Amino acid sequence: MRLLKPLLRVVAFAGLAALLSGRSGPAQLPPPPGADLILINGKIITVDAQDSVAQAVAIHKGKIVAVGTNEQIRKLASEHARVIDLGGRTATPGLIDTHCHFDATDELYAINLASVKSVAEAVEAVREKVASSKPGAWIQGAGWDEGKFSDHRYITAADLDKVSPNNPVWLTHTTGHYGVANSAALGLAGISRDTRDPKAGTIDRSSDGALTGVLKETAMEPVRKLIPAYTREQQRLGLLKMMADFNAEGMTAAKDPGTEGIRWDLYRELLDQGKSTVRIFALFYGGRDMDSARETLARLQAEPKPPESFGDGMLFAGGVKLFMDGSGGGRTAWVYDPWLKNGKPDISADGQPNHGYPNIDPATYREMVKLFHDRGVHVSTHAVGDRAIDWVVDTYADLLKQTPTKHLRHGIIHCNIPTDHAIATMARLERDYDSGYPETQAPFLWWIGEIYHASFGTKREQRLMPYKTYLQKGIMWAGGSDYFVTPFPARYGLWASVARQTPDGERPFGTVEAVDIHAALKSYTIWAAHQLFLEDRIGSLEPGKDADIAVWDRDLYSIPTDAIKELHCELTLLRGKVVYDAAATKSR
Ligand SMILES: [Zn+2]
Repeated sequence: MRLLKPLLRVVAFAGLAALLSGRSGPAQLPPPPGADLILINGKIITVDAQDSVAQAVAIHKGKIVAVGTNEQIRKLASEHARVIDLGGRTATPGLIDTHCHFDATDELYAINLASVKSVAEAVEAVREKVASSKPGAWIQGAGWDEGKFSDHRYITAADLDKVSPNNPVWLTHTTGHYGVANSAALGLAGISRDTRDPKAGTIDRSSDGALTGVLKETAMEPVRKLIPAYTREQQRLGLLKMMADFNAEGMTAAKDPGTEGIRWDLYRELLDQGKSTVRIFALFYGGRDMDSARETLARLQAEPKPPESFGDGMLFAGGVKLFMDGSGGGRTAWVYDPWLKNGKPDISADGQPNHGYPNIDPATYREMVKLFHDRGVHVSTHAVGDRAIDWVVDTYADLLKQTPTKHLRHGIIHCNIPTDHAIATMARLERDYDSGYPETQAPFLWWIGEIYHASFGTKREQRLMPYKTYLQKGIMWAGGSDYFVTPFPARYGLWASVARQTPDGERPFGTVEAVDIHAALKSYTIWAAHQLFLEDRIGSLEPGKDADIAVWDRDLYSIPTDAIKELHCELTLLRGKVVYDAAATKSR
C-alpha cells in the first residue's frame, strides 16, 4: 500500500507534463518503483490520441504505469513481477458495450430461438419444452426473427396452439418490442378479437380482424405481467453468467439500460463479494409519465451520482432511461415517411399509413427530461425513427439552452436514422455542452438487417447509422450490441461498423457510411468509456489508467475485414487481474 501513493503522483505528474507539452508517442516516465505485472512481445493497440501501437506495458497494483518497448518495460519489472509473454499477439483496451441488457437469465432458463430458421423449427422447440413442463406452466422463449425464417412470416398463435393447447406460451421477438402468445396466454390476459389497441401498442390482426397472437409494444404488457418472474437466485446466476461470457469476449464494461427489480441490489451484492468482473453503468427506467419520473428521480438521488461510483469505478447509478418510440423491425418507431411492409407503404388498422408512434406523449417527455436535467441527472433516450430522434435532440438542445449544465452526456440510444438537422444538433451539443451522443449498435445492420431492409426500404436504409458523416462532423458515437437484440460480442460490432452487411452477406447497407477499424475500435473503447463517465480510467492503454486489457489471437488492425468477426479472445484483464484465460479454460 505504501508504494501506491507516491507512484500515482509520479504518474499523474508525468501525464500532466505530457499533456502540457503536447508530446506524442509512448510516454516517457521517470522510473516508478516497480511493476508487479508486465506484458511484453506484443502489439499493444493503445487507442491513445495518436492511435499509437507499443510492444509492452507495465502494470502495478492494477494500474498502467508505462507503455513502451520491451526494453523500457522490462526495466520497470520488480523482482517478483509476473511476466506475460504475448508472443506477438495483439492487445487492446477491454472492450465496452454502451447498450446491453445485461442479463443471461433467459439463456439459462428460456427457449433460445436466436438460431431458428423457420416457423416449424420454433414450434418444434416449443413442443419439446411443453413435453418436459408441468401442465399449465408458462413456456417462455426469446430471440426469434421472421427476417431469418425461410418462410419470412410471424409465428402465430395458431402455430403454437397445435403443440401447446393448454400451457400458455410467450415468445419474445429478438428486438424485444414484440412477441407472440398462444391462445391459452391470450385468454389468460383477457385479449380477444374485441380488444382495442392500447395507447402506444398494437394488437396484430389478420385481414379479417382475427388475432394473430403477435403483440407489439405496450400491447405485450397484459401477457407479460402474468409470467412468473425469475427467482432471485436465477437472476443472480444470470448476471454471473453474463459477466463470465463478457470477459471471454475481451469485454470489461457495460451500460445496462434497464436495471429494474432486484438487479441493482444484485449488482451491489456481487461487487461487495468481489464477484463482479464487469464494470456496470446502470440506467433506471423513468417510465412514461411524471409520476414514474419522480419515483425514478428519488431512487437515483439516494445513490451517488457519476462520476462518483461504487467500488472505485466498478458500479454506477448512472442515470435514467426513457423511450421516445418503438422498433424499426416492428415498424412502431416514430418516422416522417410511412413504414414499408413488403416494399409497399404499411397501412395501419385504421386505414392510415403507419408512421409508428411516440412511446411517451411528446410534451410529457420534454417535462420528464427537464425534471432530470435540472437536477443534473444523465438521461439516455431510446429513439429509432427520424421523427423521434429530432424530438429528442431538440428537447436536449432546448433544456441545455435554459439550463446550460455541461458534461451530463445525454445520449440518444439507437439513433438509427438521424436527419441532417439532428446530426447538426448533436455536433453542436457535443461541442458546446458535452451532451447529445449517439449510443448506437452497428450489429443491427447485420443481425436484424433483413427486417430493417424490409421496414426502412432501399432509399431510407442508406442513412442508417451514418458513422462516416459523424466522423466528418466531429461527432463522437458509442458502440454497443443492444443484447439480446443482437449477440453481445463487440467483435461483431467492430466488423459491422466496417462491413455493414446482412447475415447472408449479400446486402450491405449504405457502405458510403462505413468507417475503418480504427474508428470502429474507438467507438467500443475510448468513446464508449466517455458514455460511462469512465474515460479517465479506461478506454485506452495509457499510464495512470486501470489495466483493463484484452488479448486477441489476431491483429485487428491488419486482418481482412471479414476476419474481425472471427477474432478470438485469449486473455482478459480487469485492473491487472486475469478474469478470463482461454488456455486455462481449454485445459480445465
Ligand atoms: Zn435496448
